[in-house]
Amino acid sequence: MNPIEKLLLVMMKQRLLGLFALEESLAKQPQAILALADAPERRWPDLQKFTSGEQIPSQLKTQMAIRKPMLKAGDQVKESISSLALNPQKGRVTIDQNELEALIQLAGNQGAGLIGFTKLPHELIFKNRAVMFDAVIVLGAQLDQQAVADAPSQDTYVDSINSYDVLGSAANQLAEQLRGMGFAAHVSHPLGGLVLYPPLAAKAGLGKLGRHGLLITPEFGPRQRLAAVFTNISNLPFVDVGYQINESCEHCGRCQKACPAQAFFDEPIWHSSGRRTSVNEAKCSVQFAKNFSCSVCLRECATVNPGGARR
Ligand code: SF4
Ligand code: SF4
Repeated sequence: MNPIEKLLLVMMKQRLLGLFALEESLAKQPQAILALADAPERRWPDLQKFTSGEQIPSQLKTQMAIRKPMLKAGDQVKESISSLALNPQKGRVTIDQNELEALIQLAGNQGAGLIGFTKLPHELIFKNRAVMFDAVIVLGAQLDQQAVADAPSQDTYVDSINSYDVLGSAANQLAEQLRGMGFAAHVSHPLGGLVLYPPLAAKAGLGKLGRHGLLITPEFGPRQRLAAVFTNISNLPFVDVGYQINESCEHCGRCQKACPAQAFFDEPIWHSSGRRTSVNEAKCSVQFAKNFSCSVCLRECATVNPGGARR
């Protein structure tokens, strides 16, 4: 790594430290819903190893290609927290059908092709993080089909970072719209986030959990970025189908066989809360940094789960 590449990583690390501190401050809010004792840890990026080049691709050309959307995503994370001050003190708590349809349309227009509603299982809140409400609107934005098919490549990585910007912006706009209607809202940005998204989205009925730990949806297969907007609305059309596992994984295994880092656990780790861990993230992140965000498991899964219309 040359000195400029190193400097850019140092600058990004400083920025991430600030964002992490901001997220951790959420637990001090009076109405915060806190993480449980068995909370999942957000292991990536590991800031201890960040400037060694073991967490994200460090080549200058690649760092420059993602700089703009990454900075925008960072600003959106800040907005997701600073905008909590704009929540109404005594807001409305019920929504009518026309308002709900307008919200769904707004999310779709902003690039969130997936939307679901559920109640947050508190065991999905990341360690040292907190959320303000447990009614949740889950959002998903698709990753570009060709970029995933080309993995690993710089295009794959750039598209994946762009998707943080697109979905983060959509989530913040949805929160702004909710506040304009008199409701309270709290955005969990797709970049890192405050909760573990794939099981949350599965519970909301958007898809099923794959062997790689990602969500597989009828629309996009495994190709989506996820985010959440927590709100005080009590009458959303909540769904709870549990953490469903994708049945065809049992006889497939393409993602595991193709993983260049052999990062998959032979047997997933099941936690007492019912969630599971499929991949050794420390092994995965080294490969992620070395080879344009890797995404080989995503590419392999997209060939057997190409997506299409909701069935
Ligand atoms: S590649 Fe196969 S085994 Fe892996 S998540 Fe997709 S369907 Fe499941
Ligand atoms: S991103 Fe690459 S290294 Fe990580 S689990 Fe998927 S295939 Fe393995």
